Amino acid sequence: MSIRLVKPIPSAGEIKAWQPMTEDLIAVKKKNDEEIAKIFTGESDRFLVIIGPCSADNEEAVLDYLHRLARVQEELRDKIMIIPRIYTNKPRTTGDGYKGMFHQPDPEKAPDMLEGLLAIRKMHIRSIRETGFTAADEMLYPANWQYMDDILSYVAIGARSVENQQHRLTSSGMDVPVGMKNPTGGDFTIMMNSITAGQHPHTFLYNGWEAESTGNPLAHAILRGSVNKHGQNIPNYHYEDLIRVIDLYQKFQLKNPACIVDANHSNSGKQWHQQPRIVKEVLHSRSLSPEIRQLVKGVMIESYIEDGAQEIGGGCYGKSITDSCLGWEKTEILLKEMAERL
Ligand code: PEP
Ligand code: MN
Repeated sequence: MSIRLVKPIPSAGEIKAWQPMTEDLIAVKKKNDEEIAKIFTGESDRFLVIIGPCSADNEEAVLDYLHRLARVQEELRDKIMIIPRIYTNKPRTTGDGYKGMFHQPDPEKAPDMLEGLLAIRKMHIRSIRETGFTAADEMLYPANWQYMDDILSYVAIGARSVENQQHRLTSSGMDVPVGMKNPTGGDFTIMMNSITAGQHPHTFLYNGWEAESTGNPLAHAILRGSVNKHGQNIPNYHYEDLIRVIDLYQKFQLKNPACIVDANHSNSGKQWHQQPRIVKEVLHSRSLSPEIRQLVKGVMIESYIEDGAQEIGGGCYGKSITDSCLGWEKTEILLKEMAERL
């Protein structure tokens, strides 16, 4: 057999019994989830900021970062709601490379997915206990949702996964907002079809079961820019792009029209230092059009302690080992500038 089964992974029930969300943490998540849902339904006009490293590669550095974020969250509470990116599942363009803490709890050692699963639950639970944040993660493997559904407050379907049936149908059974990214090729229709699939109920195959979902009314769009056939980045955060998303929402007749703008990836052309300018342009577009203001519920920013990125094993504490990030100093300035403009 060319696939070797290495070891069985215990059931979600077993893992959760080993690493439970305690009553107090469940209450924190419930409160955060309610506040986030109000933003998507339009009941609250706080602005969402989904922010953090491209990959959460190191528990200590991530917790250090989250404590800094928690202080700023307290200060800007009236205007901004922060959901930290604690991204532990990384899709790779060619399939090769660091695939996140879920695969490799230590980026310099061999993959160990059971250890990885325990490491990511531990880090997320520590974050909730110490900072009150319940986080966002990418759903790289739909099968993994059962292992994380008690912990996450926001899920993104990545640009490489958004056309996939299993991602779409699993999203339709999630009880937290799911952001469908535009695909790397940039077609908005694929993203809208994915939101449609996510908002509707389905019967499907899930982890060895025939399963039924209720539909997720908080499935929504994330614009992350695209890449054309020449490999050039084409941004999609401009005023005209946002108006186009509004038109598509009308055409598709979906619930809770909402959009998050990802300021990095193909929107910045991976020029991490462009993120503050891009975020400010989005806020400017919101100020020009009440419809855009209603549509754009927040932004996504890749940010960590240090500016930029390094190779795995580079040895710089708090510096990304995947996409380049905005460092903490610039991040704090940006968050405060945003609050002034909101
Ligand atoms: C990410 O958020 O780090 C990411 C991989 O995004 P995308 O799916 O847009 O490339
Ligand atoms: Mn990234």
